Amino acid sequence: MKIALIAHDEKKPEIVRLATAYKVILQAQTLFATGHTGKLIANATDLKIHRFNSGPLGGDQEVGALIAQNQMDLIIFLRDPLTAQPHEPDVNALIRLADVYQIPLATNVGTAEVLLRGLAAGFIDFRNLVNGDLTKHDAY
Ligand code: PGA
Repeated sequence: MKIALIAHDEKKPEIVRLATAYKVILQAQTLFATGHTGKLIANATDLKIHRFNSGPLGGDQEVGALIAQNQMDLIIFLRDPLTAQPHEPDVNALIRLADVYQIPLATNVGTAEVLLRGLAAGFIDFRNLVNGDLTKHDAY
């Protein structure tokens, strides 16, 4: 699956811990990240990650473009709810597109763990679920 990893500055230690803890699951996926988030995760874990621009410089929009092209399956976006972000419109646009295309998106580490464990268990086929075919639960 194609997974995007994004974290606001205050949440970067958290996403590095998450990626470290779930490295075995993540390394079997195709990973994308915004610039600084991707760099920190790659340094800490050796995971192979395609890095976009930094979020405030367009990285969130690059992830959004992949959603619109049906090229993104799951997003972990650890937002900082306590700090104003200069690129708030981009953040909202990304979350909106995830809802438009029904892409699973976690905005906190608790939901992120549920998604990653569901993915690892192999019984979640998000695409079939959102497309309404509840009889087909193939593993990716
Ligand atoms: P960054 O971007 O990973 O480049 O810091 C994240 C964001 O703030 O959207």
